[in-house]
Amino acid sequence: MAGTHTLPELPYAYDALEPYIDEQTMRLHHDKHHLGYVNGLNKAEQGMAEARKSGNFDQIQHLERLAAFHGSGHFNHVMFWNNMCSPNNYSDPSGDLLNQIKKDFDSFDSFKAQFAAAAKAVEGSGWAFLCWQPGGNQLVTLAAENHQKQTQFTAIPVLALDVWEHAYYLKYQNNRGQYVDNFWNIVNWKDVARNFESAQQYKFPVK
Ligand code: MN
Repeated sequence: MAGTHTLPELPYAYDALEPYIDEQTMRLHHDKHHLGYVNGLNKAEQGMAEARKSGNFDQIQHLERLAAFHGSGHFNHVMFWNNMCSPNNYSDPSGDLLNQIKKDFDSFDSFKAQFAAAAKAVEGSGWAFLCWQPGGNQLVTLAAENHQKQTQFTAIPVLALDVWEHAYYLKYQNNRGQYVDNFWNIVNWKDVARNFESAQQYKFPVK
């Protein structure tokens, strides 16, 4: 049903990512910022439902823009929360995911270097993603501005890193680089592996 998205709870306590991401940042980020995107997406979808009912699509361009921004904002954050875990539970990637990373980025360290560089280089607010691209049968890194710009369609994100200032400014101030480097201590590679496995179920029509 249109416009009924809800804010999911975090899969861990607000302080679970300490010391790399602080509790206060997590509370504001999840409870206020993420909620704003859920509400924005619902509003856009409700607007489209009303437009279908009345047959008046004068506002469709505006509504689609809201849906792209807030919908990406909502879904990116859901992935981001699940992509992280307490540093006490950290373990390196393994199996099929690690093999694919080595195939597409030469080594795990080279992948981390490329992903981190992309995250640090985002101009203004944005995200870094590791995506499965069924079109090329490969993992790729992509860096989005805002929540949704500069993407490559049909790419399926499996790992997301939020580099908006609201994600790190309280603890790191302007030092985005340190925040990005610390992210490697709290990546939930088991979750990334599940996303990778799911993404591979989609078969691109052109081989
Ligand atoms: Mn955010």
